[in-house]
Amino acid sequence: MARAYNFSAGPTALPIEVLQEAHEEFFDFADTGMSVMEISHRSKVFVELAQQVELDLRAVLKVPSHYRVLFLHGGASLQFSQVPMNLLGGKGTADYIHTGLWSGKAIRAARRYCDVRIVASSERSGFDRIPATTEWHCNSNAAYLHYTENETVHGVQFPAAPVSSVPLVCDACSSLLSKPIDVAKHGLIYASAQKNMGAAGVTAVIVDEALLNTPLDITPDVLNYTHLAQAGSMLNTPATFPWYLTGLTLKWIVRAGGIEQIYQANKAKAELLYQTIDNSNGFYINKVLQEFRSINNVTFTLADAALEKVFLTLADQAGIKGLEGHASVGGMRASLYNAVTLPAVDALASFMKEFQRVHG
Ligand code: PMP
Repeated sequence: MARAYNFSAGPTALPIEVLQEAHEEFFDFADTGMSVMEISHRSKVFVELAQQVELDLRAVLKVPSHYRVLFLHGGASLQFSQVPMNLLGGKGTADYIHTGLWSGKAIRAARRYCDVRIVASSERSGFDRIPATTEWHCNSNAAYLHYTENETVHGVQFPAAPVSSVPLVCDACSSLLSKPIDVAKHGLIYASAQKNMGAAGVTAVIVDEALLNTPLDITPDVLNYTHLAQAGSMLNTPATFPWYLTGLTLKWIVRAGGIEQIYQANKAKAELLYQTIDNSNGFYINKVLQEFRSINNVTFTLADAALEKVFLTLADQAGIKGLEGHASVGGMRASLYNAVTLPAVDALASFMKEFQRVHG
């Protein structure tokens, strides 16, 4: 079986062991004689699975006991609305840091529900950095401060969590489980699964229970965090198969040595690629300032833009897939999520060097 080198931004590569396990028990899950997709979400066997996934996520991320962990529908995009619906707490205003395409979407969604104040933005410099904290204008009366830990499209990442006097809300869609995160510094963290946590369809929300108070009147019951927490994220039928895959992925993370080990591996992968770009004498360009370069999404362009199509076609022919940059910015993007192996990144780096030798 020839597996591709998959650098897609998500959905993306899953660990081969996870696919194999899912394959092995596809027709008969836990001796039920049924696939995990075929059993009731109310059955003892699925409820136990769901509880185990929560325990494993808590253990892997060291989630303090006063946080609730939810497994929801709607992707991280729904959280752009569900967060203000639930966390405004009568305040009417929230702070956002604008660092790229995804925080921009979060801002636009939140404007339907509250007065959004942008405390800092790197838009003018083309989202090539996290704005210096000395330039931030935070509001002490904001319901929360929202940031996007890793901007998946622009390849920009926070070197550390912001310091905030109001609850900190983190879109960790493309970085959760790829590096350590101090949950206790946050009021709420959300991430959909299709980058580092399994397959598309389930979204983890980790929320300090102190923030679970009264949502906006317009909030549908199925979007009410408090009700969801009380119902074990099963107010309606959950995404059972993606939830199960998240469980397998968490067990794989534990076997790989946990988050710290995974983080070291991810840093090594990113370093190899950034070095290849930086040593190319300007043939490949990454314009993100060094300290804010993402370990999850390495963006680059070719100095000769006319060569980009050739680059992508030849990469594809060499089994190196998913390198197209996001449509809004073009260029290339190599996503180096947890299941992307160092040999895969090695293959990409070698391909880039050879392409430069031939076309440079
Ligand atoms: N936030 C970030 C940082 C993302 O990368 C993405 C998806 N690429 C989203 C939010 C939206 O996630 P979803 O497609 O699950 O709604």
